[in-house]
Amino acid sequence: MKSLWNDKEASRSEGDPLRLRVYTSRLLGQEPSLVLHGGGNTSVKTTATTLFGDREDLLYIKGSGWDLATIEEAGFAPVQLQVLTRMAELPRLTDTEMVRAQRAAMTDPGAPTPSVEAILHAIIPFTFVDHTHADAVVAISNTPGGEERIREVYQDRVLVVPYVMPGFILARKVFELSRGLDWSRYEGMVLLHHGIFSWGNDARSSYERMIQLVTMAEDYLQKRKAWTAVRRVTSSTAHGVNGVEPQLARLRREASLLRGAPMIATLDDSAEAAGFAGLPDVSSIASRGPLTPDHVIRTKPTPLVLIGGRSGSVEAFAAGYREYFARHATPEVKPLDPAPRWIVWPGVGTVALGPSAKDAAIAADIVRHTGRAIQWAEALGGWRALPEENLFEVEYWELEQAKLKAAGSSPPFQGKIALVTGAASGIGLATAEMLNRQGAAVTGLDINPAVTRVLQKPGLLGLTCDVTDGGALKEAVETAIRRFGGLDIVVSNAGIFSPSERLEELSDANWEQSLTLNLTSHRMLLELVIPYLRLGFDPTIIVNASKNVPAPGPGAGAYSVAKAGLTQLARVAALELAKDGIRVNILHPHAVFDTAAWTQEVLEARAKNYGMTVDQYKRNNLLGVEVTSQDVAALVCAMAGPAFAKTTGAQVPVDGGSDRVI
Ligand code: ZN
Repeated sequence: MKSLWNDKEASRSEGDPLRLRVYTSRLLGQEPSLVLHGGGNTSVKTTATTLFGDREDLLYIKGSGWDLATIEEAGFAPVQLQVLTRMAELPRLTDTEMVRAQRAAMTDPGAPTPSVEAILHAIIPFTFVDHTHADAVVAISNTPGGEERIREVYQDRVLVVPYVMPGFILARKVFELSRGLDWSRYEGMVLLHHGIFSWGNDARSSYERMIQLVTMAEDYLQKRKAWTAVRRVTSSTAHGVNGVEPQLARLRREASLLRGAPMIATLDDSAEAAGFAGLPDVSSIASRGPLTPDHVIRTKPTPLVLIGGRSGSVEAFAAGYREYFARHATPEVKPLDPAPRWIVWPGVGTVALGPSAKDAAIAADIVRHTGRAIQWAEALGGWRALPEENLFEVEYWELEQAKLKAAGSSPPFQGKIALVTGAASGIGLATAEMLNRQGAAVTGLDINPAVTRVLQKPGLLGLTCDVTDGGALKEAVETAIRRFGGLDIVVSNAGIFSPSERLEELSDANWEQSLTLNLTSHRMLLELVIPYLRLGFDPTIIVNASKNVPAPGPGAGAYSVAKAGLTQLARVAALELAKDGIRVNILHPHAVFDTAAWTQEVLEARAKNYGMTVDQYKRNNLLGVEVTSQDVAALVCAMAGPAFAKTTGAQVPVDGGSDRVI
């Protein structure tokens, strides 16, 4: 592992310990094999002057909810150092009491809640303290004889602390171990089965010690040929084996039913994931526990391993989870949902599940690192994680339970999965973004490759696809399923506003193009998505037709006929799919000018044609309002949500009111 320290970058923060703390914290955060998604924590000790002119020692410690990769000064909580060091002397304290006392000792009430490892940072007598859950270090300690191996790697350079629960108990343990200790003899501290600390009196030395110590662990793995023991094979998905996507959608459905809310399920069919899933003893080694205990919140103690028969089912996983709960529960804890958070799928890869696309992506990262660490440890002599009672302690930790209780309501489409065609601009883009803002994971298709760029936020996937090409469309739908695990909302939106040609001059090309894109491509999409929607949650299809259906215009034969056919197609779909609970509704927008079809030039020409200004032309409807892509997207979201839960086959205009339709 290389140090990312850069003198020029660092010089911008010179003389400011907190800014340097931010700088090296971000360096640690950039390396996923050190910390993943909120893992690890860092601190710096400084002195400040109070309002009354007194000098006071402070510990700036990473706040909970912040990620080292993106942390800012505001992500560190200033806590009175003396309060923390005195807390370490208390014989007993619950973690809830500890957090409350730490918050009360903050000198800025607006700062985030200090990390649960604040006391531990406080008792280490160095200005800078860095803590990570480095894969290589934890993997070595998660083996039979792991402690001896760690001592072999580091000799006397680090303190070795046996595993105890993070939080007050850990701080207290280190406090006891270090009484009378000459800290300056050590460069760091390894917490078995958990992670590693480094320290120093300047930002660079603490950070670079972390890099050196982790490099020593990596070298150890390399020397013992463990580093290269990570297996890679081609997933069966790459061979075009049919059936993976429908099975994934079924797994997602079963897991979501157990959780009581829809989940996102992301398939990793990379060579590394398929290699891990195909290990001959995978059902044993994958079920021995996580890499580091705080992963249990994201992954549960064990995955579901699909090995066929009852033992490989979601239901059997849930039964096993309930038994695990019963073995360790105390009367005051309530069981969490028994749905798996990751699945080992031999021949295919791994699946990560979560309540949102972000959660599933976090679980996927953890699973990738876990698979690697397991294989390193196996090469050293065997993967041995913590016993399940220790995992239960962390999974049902009072602080985690409190966090769950405090969690606010989730956005309306949380866990839902949508597909929108024609999503690179205009109505499709506005719809994809609005569904995503309201919590849905959304795949957008468009023939314009810009779709891959405009849909780049978490939970958004843009795919270049010509929806009139059946093969390409099938591939795109399957890619969407592999990324998010199913389909609940389909917005069939792709279309073209055909050039105006009266019937006697209408070209075959114009007619064909309109029918192919505005009608036939929608039929192909329906055929592909219906089986997935049957496995969806409150599944719905929303078809973007046109005001031209109830009120056609001269010169719009190609367009109006195709859109009328599309409306009829949707009505038949509403009839056929009602028994499956799939709602199909149609919207008829009119004069939505902020789309790719309308340039300023075209607008001016049209307005002139009617003897109007552009503004008059835009508002040429009963209400005298301009209809935007956002307005249409809002109607799509309403149609996808509870307001339309009992409506199917409806045709709703969004046109400012038209006397020809009313
Ligand atoms: Zn930790």
